[in-house]
Amino acid sequence: MTQTTLSTSTVKALKCKECGHEYDLGAKHVCEDVCFGPLEVVYDYDAIRQRVSRATIEAGPNSIWRYRHFLPVTGEDVIDVGTGMTPLVEAKRLARRLGLKKLFIKNDAVNMPTLSFKDRVVSVALTRARELGFSTVSCASTGNLANSTAAIAAHAGLDCCVFIPADLEAGKVLGTLIYNPTLMAVKGNYDQVNRLCSEVANTHGWGFVNINLRPYYSEGSKTLGYEVAEQLGWQLPDHIVAPLASGSLFTKIYKGFREFVDVGLVDDKAVRFSGAQAEGCSPIAKAFHEGRDFIAPEKPNTIAKSIAIGNPADGIYAVEIARKTGGNIEAVNDTEIIEGIKLLAETEGIFTETAGGTTVAVLKKLVEAGKINPDETTVVYITGNGLKTQEAVQGYIAEPFTIEPKLESFEHALERSRTLDRLEWQQVLI
Ligand SMILES: *Cc1c(COP(=O)(O)O)cnc(C)c1O
Ligand SMILES: [Zn+2]
Repeated sequence: MTQTTLSTSTVKALKCKECGHEYDLGAKHVCEDVCFGPLEVVYDYDAIRQRVSRATIEAGPNSIWRYRHFLPVTGEDVIDVGTGMTPLVEAKRLARRLGLKKLFIKNDAVNMPTLSFKDRVVSVALTRARELGFSTVSCASTGNLANSTAAIAAHAGLDCCVFIPADLEAGKVLGTLIYNPTLMAVKGNYDQVNRLCSEVANTHGWGFVNINLRPYYSEGSKTLGYEVAEQLGWQLPDHIVAPLASGSLFTKIYKGFREFVDVGLVDDKAVRFSGAQAEGCSPIAKAFHEGRDFIAPEKPNTIAKSIAIGNPADGIYAVEIARKTGGNIEAVNDTEIIEGIKLLAETEGIFTETAGGTTVAVLKKLVEAGKINPDETTVVYITGNGLKTQEAVQGYIAEPFTIEPKLESFEHALERSRTLDRLEWQQVLI
């Protein structure tokens, strides 16, 4: 693969998170010369400080590329499909329901182009893939990543072959196939898909966004930290709650906040980091609660398929961040996840998928346990769209009133709906 290093770039090298050994900026993700630790991108922060200010960022594109000097690309030609700059909305009704005072939703359920936060990581990974000379891109996905990779590869004119577990929700499968990639539905869980993909990456020379391009891919999640800081008026929040699958997103929001402090874009502040998992796949929450410094892999069994990773690559780094910031990592069951989806929809008009239901349910659990202070400015990350996981709520929401096209029929149905409302209220009272 070709190696690009422009003198104007703020990207320096890949560096092992464990032993610090440095590598050139190629397609690799583990410290193969020394310790097999994960590699991370390092930057020239002096160069960033010289080039970047609040004003230059505000004058940039209305997408993640306004933060391009903090992203691991070396050229000028980025794939900008309008990803990022999603709304940060103050959730007043949800806050009141939970007893909080300042609650915000970072709404990546409407991220472009495929309605999940994965469009951020894929925009960065495919830009880097193109710089490195890959013509075929790929991924191991729990659903959303396949949607993003297929869509953004289509936009960029890259060949695409993606791998998913065969039992994903219909919306995630259709939402990949429509872009006409090669789709491999593997009879196995995500961790098995991922293992297979590692072998394919070695034999086929493709750019796997979350395997050999993982150091670049994961940096895209930092933009979820940058945007929240900018949208809060160049300040950090007091507490964030985010879902955990591999744990990458969580650790990169942290890195994003730290970088903004380090280059002087925001004042320093102790931000607490709390994470959300589904009980049916909660290896990170268990390591946190049992005080362990290793992850015990498990076999996922939950409706929250998009975050069901039994052997999370960045799990232990997520545990470290939750511990050192005074946060928590909690898990909730599938019933609570469905209630979380409904609660967010009914109070804020946001329809999220199971991952968002998990995050809202964990938020509620943390508030009830006194682990979020009502005065803290709290930001909840909603990472995916509910239209993609409709089967999760099927049977748990109301049916429409089917009526004749006649006023009388409507009046009759309206009366019935009011009776149902009263019955529901009586049930609440007893
Ligand atoms: C992938 C995913 C996550 C978590 O991603 P990690 O970086 O692997 O922890 C969260 N929410 C949704 C909707 C996802 O698709
Ligand atoms: Zn190493």
